[in-house]
This record gives sequence, C-alpha cells and structure tokens, in this order.
Amino acid sequence: MTGANDGGCWVYAERQGDSFLSVSLELLGKARELADRLGGELTALTVGGNSGAGAPLRRYGPDHVLELTHPLLATYDAKAYATAIGAELSKSKPSALLLGATRNGQDLAGRLAVRMRTGLTAHVTGIELDDRQNLVGWVPGFGGGIEAGVSCPVRRPQMVTVRPGVFPLPEGRTPTGDVREVVPELSEKDLGSRRVSFEVKGSSVDLTRAGVIVVGGRGTGGDFTRLEKLARLLGGEVGATRIATDAGWVERDRMIGQTGVITHPKLVLVLGASGAVQFTVGIDRASTVVAVNRDPSAPIFDHADLGIVGDLGPVVDSLLRALEA
Ligand SMILES: Cc1cc2nc3c(=O)[nH]c(=O)nc-3n(C[C@H](O)[C@H](O)[C@H](O)COP(=O)(O)OP(=O)(O)OC[C@H]3O[C@@H](n4cnc5c(N)ncnc54)[C@H](O)[C@@H]3O)c2cc1C
Repeated sequence: MTGANDGGCWVYAERQGDSFLSVSLELLGKARELADRLGGELTALTVGGNSGAGAPLRRYGPDHVLELTHPLLATYDAKAYATAIGAELSKSKPSALLLGATRNGQDLAGRLAVRMRTGLTAHVTGIELDDRQNLVGWVPGFGGGIEAGVSCPVRRPQMVTVRPGVFPLPEGRTPTGDVREVVPELSEKDLGSRRVSFEVKGSSVDLTRAGVIVVGGRGTGGDFTRLEKLARLLGGEVGATRIATDAGWVERDRMIGQTGVITHPKLVLVLGASGAVQFTVGIDRASTVVAVNRDPSAPIFDHADLGIVGDLGPVVDSLLRALEA
C-alpha cells in the first residue's frame, strides 16, 4: 500500500477485560493531535468477541470507532487478529496505525507490518511530523549515543509502537464519532493457536501511574524483599531494570525504560542500577531522582537530584528504620 496522508490515522485500542489499556488512550490523545495537523480523521479500532465494547473510546476524541467482532476474536490470537485487522487496513487504507508496545501490541504490529508490506518503527519515545507530513518515530540507539528518527515515506500505513507512558493520558470528554461494527469472515483455520485453558498469572501493575517508585538493578543481587517493603512504606511500587526482570527477580511489567515503561513519578529511588540510557529514558520525567550506587562514576548520578555513593544495603536498612519509626 503506497500513498499520501488522506486515509486518516488509526489507533489500535487494546482491551483489558471490559476496559482499555491506558497506553491506547494515550495514543488516541496523540493521534488526535496528529490527525488534526494532517487534516485527516481519527479512527479507534477495537477487536473482540462482543459488540458495543468500543463505545467508551468515543470519550477520547475519535471521528470513528471501528469494532471488529467475532466469537473467534474473543481472546487475543495473533493470526486471527492480524487477518481481521489486515483486511480492514487493505479496504480503508489508513495513512498511519499506532499501537501500544505491549506484549500483544508488539506481537500484532510485527505480523501486521509484514502482511501490509510496510515499515514498523518499534518502541518509540516520541512522534513528530516531517516537512512532507510523514510520521517520524524517535528511537534511542547505540547505547544512547544517538536518537534516530525513523520514517516510512513510501508504504502505508506508517506503523509505530509506543511504550506506555510516553504521551499523557487525555481527559475523557464529551463523546464524539460514530461506532461501526464489522464482523470479519473468519473460521477455525484462521486461528494460530487452540485454547486449552486460560489462567491469569501474577498481578499486573501500571507503573505509568505510580507516584513513588523504588527501582532495583543488578546491584540488588536479586533481593527485592526489602525494596518491596520500602515501596510499601512510601506508598509506591517496585520497578526494575531489564537486568533484574530478565533474571526473573521481578515481573516483567515492572521493567522501566525503552523496552519497559516510561514513568512519571514524583519520586524515584534508584538502587544498584548503572544508569544506561535505555533505562534512564524511563525515569527522565520523574520530578525527583535519588540514586544509590557504590561506583561514584556510574552514569545514573548524571540523572540524579540526590546521589549517595555507597552500598545500597545499609542505605535501604536506614530508610526502613526511619520510615518504620
Ligand atoms: C535495545 C535495548 C533495549 C534495552 N531496554 C532496556 C530497558 O527498557 N530497561 C533497562 O533497564 N535496560 C534496558 N536495556 C539494557 C541496558 O542497556 C542495561 O544493560 C541495563 O539497564 C543495566 O541494568 P542495571 O543497571 O541493573 O545493571 P548494571 O549495568 O550491571 O549496573 C549495576 C550497577 O549496580 C551497582 N552496584 C553493584 N552492587 C551494588 C551495591 N551493593 N550497592 C550499590 N550499587 C551497587 C554497580 O556499580 C553498577 O553501576 C536495553 C538494552 C538494549 C540494547
């Protein structure tokens, strides 16, 4: 699909039970601004097993809500979702499609980009328009040495996945736009998997809304028990670097940074993390950063309002004692 910018801007609104993920609403806010600047329309696309679920999206400024409904779409299945969405993209030829860089969003985006033979800019930390009105997605690269602006000037739709928390959550307002339901033609052969049983494991956490975050890195050695206690006493949440989540010390939902979430807390306490740029992009919007690291030359101190050079163990113990007292 090639073309200009007349096909409008689409946002894939990912469902979580009866509601929508915050990142999808954040994208609707940003896409509204882009669509207005491009003089095009904004469509919120939602996929699921039942009709009527897309109506709440009307509070986030779309011109249209498109619901793709089918019993086989009741649970996320990459192949079936890509088949259903791909057919609509081919018909409507939108100029852009934005998705949240969630686990399912990333999975779906890759499949759709291949199906539509278009480009995908993944994990962007910002979106702009260039002078030819193409989307430019900004991605940190080479250890933070550069920030690359990636665009897809020829193929359509221009596809971008965006980390949760990059754009502000818009206020819900007076509903706009029509709701159109489409029932795609699907059969069992369109499913990529067969569901045997379904179990939700662990609790999901949304760090983009946390006011206080206690982050642990490799320097914790995997002991997050005291960090969890500290976070609880501060009324906050535990976050982690990729090293800590890859090691299985904490759930992946708690990873902060380029591949994790972009946070906006009032206070973030960073314990035993070096401060790699892929991590710090996730805390740069915090009001106050306090870092503890035993290496005085650790880059995290360049991002900290308050730095403590030393072993994190005694610092955590003193904080716990003070807060408990
Ligand atoms: C494409 C790409 C995407 C990535 N995305 C992310 C991302 O989203 N989030 C992310 O976090 N990383 C990401 N990374 C990985 C990132 O580059 C770093 O490797 C990672 O952030 C380092 O984690 P760390 O700070 O916990 O570990 P390290 O870099 O090993 O740092 C550990 C720090 O702990 C200190 N320390 C050790 N013991 C103690 C102690 N007892 N007391 C105090 N300090 C101590 C050390 O001095 C050191 O500075 C990505 C990398 C790539 C290539």
